[in-house]
Amino acid sequence: MSTVQLRYNFRLDPTPGQRMALARAFGCARTVFNDGLRIRREAHAAGLPHIRDTDLQKQVITTAKRTPERAWLAEVSSVVLVQALADLHTAYRNFFASLSGERKGRNVAPPRFRSRKDNRQTIRLTRNGFRLRPDGRLNIARIGDVRVRWSRGLPSDPSSVTIVKDAAGRYFASFVVQTSDEPLPDTTGEVGIDLGLTHFAVLSDGRKVTAPKFLRRAERKLRRAQQNLSRKARGSGNREKAVVKVARAHARVADARRDHHHKLSTALIRENQAVYVEDLCVNGLARTRLAKSVHDAGWSAFVNMLEYKAARYGRVFQRIDRMFPSSQLCSACGSRDGPKPLAVRTWTCRDCGTVHDRDINAARNIRAEAQHMVAAGRAETPNACGGPVRPSA
Ligand SMILES: [Zn+2]
Repeated sequence: MSTVQLRYNFRLDPTPGQRMALARAFGCARTVFNDGLRIRREAHAAGLPHIRDTDLQKQVITTAKRTPERAWLAEVSSVVLVQALADLHTAYRNFFASLSGERKGRNVAPPRFRSRKDNRQTIRLTRNGFRLRPDGRLNIARIGDVRVRWSRGLPSDPSSVTIVKDAAGRYFASFVVQTSDEPLPDTTGEVGIDLGLTHFAVLSDGRKVTAPKFLRRAERKLRRAQQNLSRKARGSGNREKAVVKVARAHARVADARRDHHHKLSTALIRENQAVYVEDLCVNGLARTRLAKSVHDAGWSAFVNMLEYKAARYGRVFQRIDRMFPSSQLCSACGSRDGPKPLAVRTWTCRDCGTVHDRDINAARNIRAEAQHMVAAGRAETPNACGGPVRPSA
């Protein structure tokens, strides 16, 4: 199987602060590129021998940063500067290959100076300059976590990303993905998910998912550490040690939970072509008595993972309005039975006599309602074709 290089473009929503940081990075990349180009041109005009790429890099990046005129280059990630210069090298190589006839096709012009008035401002980052966060945001070195509008999936980890600001002031991330593997094959499964307190999640196919043992153990340890801390006198050395222990236990719980969320969300996305959840007003719930359980369950982080993984792998993801009475309707006949206190775990439909497990019934209603929404075109579904898309730039 041969590897293919694909380019995937997505809109970015940088914050005002991130826009400023990006403007700085665009400016620094431009400066390094132009400085390199100027030195090469001057050397050529003076009849001097070709400067090696590594020597040029030392001159326009490493040494330049130590001068007062270029000290501000240190404010941006060095990955950005190195890649800007690499672009200059590539431009020269293409130009020379074109001159010698080694490169076929249209003649390639020699590299020209970049201007702040250019239609496109760009920086390019390789693997060590960016990261994809579990919540779907793109972490760019020295810029921060930028929101991405995922419209489809990436078939595998990108090898590089170019951040573009176009003439209209819009921002894009253009990922380069080396891929030889297939996107996820289509399946027919569609699952409704009820997120609850008795179980972490209940699925419309009847499965109930509880927190795994390692997470429950970590949570127990955290509770013990917290109790231990509350018994220590303020200002004592023992209290300080107990504080550290609580912080460590907290981190372990967070890691275990994230791990569990990742495994479960990946499995659900793999198994199903469409995933439906209730849009829990987690913030609203968090102000009530349920607050602690809600925070502990980490539902919103889990739902975010489902959403971005669905986009990544070309699956359908749909949230149901939280006002939808998922626990009041009979999923068998559709009759509405009225609200029930949380303590009611099973109930019998007055109209058709079906005995319902409260949570499984809710998950089935969520699936049915979401299917209606998607069918009626009321839902905003991501491009569900899933397959690798031809480069658009
Ligand atoms: Zn019924």
